[in-house]
Amino acid sequence: EADELAKIKDLPAATLDGHTIQLASNISSTRELDIALGVGAESVGLFRTEFLYMDRSYAPSEIEQYTVYREVAETFPGQSVIIRTLDIGGDKPLDFLQLADEDNPFLGYRGIRICLDQTDIFKTQLRALLRASAYGKIKILLPMISSLEELYAAKDVLEQAKQELKQEEIAYDEDILIGMMIEIPAAAALADLFAEEVDFFSIGTNDLVQYTLAVDRMNEQIAHMYDPFHPAVLRLIRSTVLAAKKHGIMVGVCGEMAGDPRAVPLWVALQVDELSMSSRSIPRVKHAIRKSSFEDSHEKVERVFQCRRKAEVDELLGIEHGPEA
Ligand code: PEP
Ligand code: MG
Repeated sequence: EADELAKIKDLPAATLDGHTIQLASNISSTRELDIALGVGAESVGLFRTEFLYMDRSYAPSEIEQYTVYREVAETFPGQSVIIRTLDIGGDKPLDFLQLADEDNPFLGYRGIRICLDQTDIFKTQLRALLRASAYGKIKILLPMISSLEELYAAKDVLEQAKQELKQEEIAYDEDILIGMMIEIPAAAALADLFAEEVDFFSIGTNDLVQYTLAVDRMNEQIAHMYDPFHPAVLRLIRSTVLAAKKHGIMVGVCGEMAGDPRAVPLWVALQVDELSMSSRSIPRVKHAIRKSSFEDSHEKVERVFQCRRKAEVDELLGIEHGPEA
């Protein structure tokens, strides 16, 4: 099998009947760029910038961040590089921010909530992203958005950052695209409204599953209930993709589910534009896409959406009970 996977490294992730999906890597640092290139990733679909901020006593400077973002952009010339703004949470401490202990960190002071509260940190990051955007096709991704108000507030800070750079005569991509994670059920429910306000969606299944099913993604005791193929999750994914298509914006998936070959019929049938995953998952997902067809996937997924019970979904998608193979 390894041989077969190596052979398709530089081939597109296209179905037998010619539907193509962009395959991208999730990265957390520039050290992972070589691995991404090595497996044939076409771009970066999610750069988690948290690690730039962790284990240090002061926030990273604009120049330090700019250097990192520019390196990522220049590694994939002409390809979209999606960089997510800081998504630190109450469970991941930051030395230079005194975050209070919380009973429910995943429901607490996290991601965009912190950035909209500490706008100096946020604006520094946005300035760094804008400056780097002069050297590649950077797209900005906002995490944990749950309301239009939050999106507008974030866009206001972005506008301020642009104005500042303009005044300072520093170059940036004036047409830089801005997108949001769909990872809170509220955002999925409002996807039709959000689709009018952003350039792309990235569905974050890790959190979307956790918040939809009220199952803590870190709690081993209920790990068996953490189910990306739960019919409720599948419906939210479908309605989000349909809203994006209706408004003509790009939609990708960047949670762990994107790297699960068993979910491929779903992505093919829904015609998502991009899947972003751990680099190591790319070869197997590409293989699964290249063996599939839109027609078969569409038919199968139509039936999946008629299932009332989880066992029927599993049967259709070939999901065995117990740990993933
Ligand atoms: C997600 O929630 O699916 C996601 C990709 O973001 P993270 O895992 O960083 O929360
Ligand atoms: Mg998330």
